[in-house]
Amino acid sequence: MTILKKVRVRLTLLCTGVTTLILFLISGAYLLLAESNLKDNQFKSFQNDIKTITSNLESQSIITYDWLAKLEAGDRYLVFLKDNDVSLLYENRQENEDRESLYQSVKTYYEENQTKDVSSYYSTYHEEFTFAGETTFPIIKKNHYYVSYCYIPKGQGHLEAYILKPLQPMYTQIYSQRALFAILGVLAVFLLFCFFLYLVKLMLKPVEENQKKQNLFVAAASHEFRTPLAVIMSCLSAMRNPSGCSTDTSLDFLEIMEGETERMSHLINDMLLLTNQHNPNHQLQIEDCELETLLLKCYEGFEQMAMDKKISFHIQLPEDPMPLCYCDPEKISQLLAILSHNAISYTEPGGKITFSAKYRNSHHYIWVVDTGIGILDEDKKKIFEQFYRVDNARSKKNHFGLGLSIAMEIVMAHKARLTVTDTPGGGSTFLVRL
Ligand code: ADP
Repeated sequence: MTILKKVRVRLTLLCTGVTTLILFLISGAYLLLAESNLKDNQFKSFQNDIKTITSNLESQSIITYDWLAKLEAGDRYLVFLKDNDVSLLYENRQENEDRESLYQSVKTYYEENQTKDVSSYYSTYHEEFTFAGETTFPIIKKNHYYVSYCYIPKGQGHLEAYILKPLQPMYTQIYSQRALFAILGVLAVFLLFCFFLYLVKLMLKPVEENQKKQNLFVAAASHEFRTPLAVIMSCLSAMRNPSGCSTDTSLDFLEIMEGETERMSHLINDMLLLTNQHNPNHQLQIEDCELETLLLKCYEGFEQMAMDKKISFHIQLPEDPMPLCYCDPEKISQLLAILSHNAISYTEPGGKITFSAKYRNSHHYIWVVDTGIGILDEDKKKIFEQFYRVDNARSKKNHFGLGLSIAMEIVMAHKARLTVTDTPGGGSTFLVRL
């Protein structure tokens, strides 16, 4: 697994882990709050129901079986009544062992924890509490109930009641809510994982591309170094053989080696320029400068070279001085030198090169127009890539395909623009907008 892939997996897991933890904490807190609210509301509604039931019991001189049956319908409540300590039974009531043992356990529990002796009370008394009874069900060990103990004095006697509300429906609701949250949680974690996998891939794309570019750069640079080194090594091995190497040939070999070493030093200089440009600590020395002066200096620097190649070299500057240009003069001179050198290199003797500049709509424009060999449309974008050379330029020594990529880096650092178009009648026109 490459380092980048490892970073991708780790970042994805980290992001998913952290968001899952946050999601788990928030939804857990929400769930607990919702459950405690549900329990509170259920208990309050139970207390209200008990108030109604006790006032009914108070007001009824005869407790009807119908009324009790309605109360117990659908297992809403379980009612255990004692009239003057005698259990009240009614028709249809399914008295069974479970019910009796439940009543006994609730009664024992209440009597053990009873805080008040209500036998001498003249008014109705009721008290609510929660009771957990044993069940036979293997997973849910306890069966919970809200219980109300009611003491209602009636004439000379009294009525005692234990009213139980089974909490199983409420717990079923709570458990199904938890299960739903768990399922949604798993789904959310899966979706988060997929999302982060995609996001991290997207975020690391520039790094990946940069790494690819670096690899290509190293491969192309090594390729460029291989040719001069091979030439030097073959010259050296020929010189080592004294029989086949006269003084004259040795001098020839030395000259070739000198040429190749110069070529390598050129390449190293270009590469250093490019890496300097990429260096994040490398800062532009921006200042107000006269663009005309830079253009003139460059023109003067390349005039002789153009003359040697019998190319007519011209410069056209606006009559009125242009406003000062806010740029790094050294870098802009470097950019102009690359464009001029290329123009001279790719223009045949008898051709023409023109330098011109203009200030328009808050921008400085510089044109380098040549009547040279021109650039095919399909090559116009590629020529700014590192080590890219159009085929017919490959034979030229000291042209490694780095010039325009350095020029583009300078332009980008200035947030400027560099474009290439065809010169009407043949040749190339490079335009810099600052
Ligand atoms: P090189 O050092 O090879 O000139 P550049 O990056 O400066 O590298 O240019 C890349 C390629 O673009 C060159 O190989 C050449 O084919 C083409 N090119 C650049 N400038 C010109 C021009 N003025 N006219 C024609 N072709 C050009």
